[in-house]
Amino acid sequence: MPEKAKAVPTTVRYQGGLESILQPAGLVFLVFSVGVAVVLVCLNRYLVFISLASAGAGLFGFLVLRALAESIRIQKKSSGLPFSGTITAAKPVIIHHCSSCGAALSDLARCDSCGKEIDPIPVGNAN
Ligand SMILES: [Zn+2]
Repeated sequence: MPEKAKAVPTTVRYQGGLESILQPAGLVFLVFSVGVAVVLVCLNRYLVFISLASAGAGLFGFLVLRALAESIRIQKKSSGLPFSGTITAAKPVIIHHCSSCGAALSDLARCDSCGKEIDPIPVGNAN
């Protein structure tokens, strides 16, 4: 008789909650609105402005529902409650400055302000 293994629970993933419904609902709303816009343009090319309004409303609704879902996630996280999905985070943008004059560098080879050549940044240390 072969030896049996045990099921070991390791990762907990939460599902459900209103936030898990709002985000896909926004995507459905966006796809429906763009579909209506395409159909209107195909039916009559003079309805292009109404079609653009429909697509714009779909995009706006998508963003609002997504923001609402994220707001619920943040509120649940701050309350210590489990939530489904992920909270988006902003990414930092690195801006290099010239060590000689302090001007922001648009080119990492030469300073546009003082004209001095910039030492190359070692690989793996881009910040
Ligand atoms: Zn400079």
